[in-house]
Amino acid sequence: MSEPILWIIVPCYNEEDVLPITAPLFLQKLNGLISAGKISPESRVLFVNDGSRDRTWEIISELARGDEHFLGIAQSRNRGHQNALLAGLMEAKGRCDITISIDCDGQDDLNAMDAMVEEYRKGCDVVYGVRSSRRSDSWFKRTTAQSFYRMMNKMGVEMVYDHADYRLVSAKVLRHFADFQEVNIFLRGMFPLVGFKSGSVYYERHERLAGKSHYPLGKMISFAVEGITSLSVKPLTMIVVLGLITCLLGFVGIIWAIVEVLLGNTITGWASTICIILFLGGVQLLSIGVIGEYIGKIYLETKRRPRYIISERTWETEDREQ
Ligand code: UDP
Ligand code: MG
Repeated sequence: MSEPILWIIVPCYNEEDVLPITAPLFLQKLNGLISAGKISPESRVLFVNDGSRDRTWEIISELARGDEHFLGIAQSRNRGHQNALLAGLMEAKGRCDITISIDCDGQDDLNAMDAMVEEYRKGCDVVYGVRSSRRSDSWFKRTTAQSFYRMMNKMGVEMVYDHADYRLVSAKVLRHFADFQEVNIFLRGMFPLVGFKSGSVYYERHERLAGKSHYPLGKMISFAVEGITSLSVKPLTMIVVLGLITCLLGFVGIIWAIVEVLLGNTITGWASTICIILFLGGVQLLSIGVIGEYIGKIYLETKRRPRYIISERTWETEDREQ
């Protein structure tokens, strides 16, 4: 088998502090793999600028001018990590044999790429980078992340535990993945749906080398909601079950009330009535809210808006359509 062409896909959002540190590390890794004969000399690092407001795009352009192994594309505005990654993967799929997606902050151990490429050569089309421990995380991040995975699994979302978006995916899988046309995307839960032979590689995740995280608690919660509602309809089933149980309890309550009336006991009305009204009001609002989430999703999906728009590239394209 001839050496595969590897494209490393790196989404970047306001990363002017960390990019000058990590870009040479990516290049070093790429060159190391090339000289070890593991990947083709045609391999590249593709940075995706996700509408950064700082000097990120200038840095990427400079890198691309300085070394032919560096390439960059820019999204027309900030669309979030998942869409930036998707843009990079779709850009790469016709130009390489394998892609590895990785964050640009140096948290993921680059050395795991050797093992990923090895797994690919052994026949895996998808290789998940899995964190071997969460020692570098704060207690808060660790606990919230763990409950996130647990909840996702309970909700029926098939996900590799402790795998984020550090992953090798072959161009073959990406070509099939391109048929997944949904607008609400949650990549780590979608690749298992594509199928093909997959493997895992374990690595230590470090602290960010510079800059700060773009995933505060609020964004993490909306990421979890996005993951559940775009991949599972279990919450809707849960509402049905909740409704059934509430109906059953209500029925028992009615019988109890009738019995009380027949026995001639005066009903101490107010408190219990208010409790029931409040409880039912809560259940109903919650249920409507969950249904609303899905209706919102359907609304967004029916628009079929583009999932990303590339405004610039560091290289010339002959295709005038692009
Ligand atoms: N990122 C992005 N668009 C965004 C937010 C983040 O492309 O709107 C990129 C960011 O530059 C980084 C990766 O996604 O390469 C992961 O983000 P971050 O390190 O902030 O998240 P954390 O590792 O704390 O979960
Ligand atoms: Mg990070």
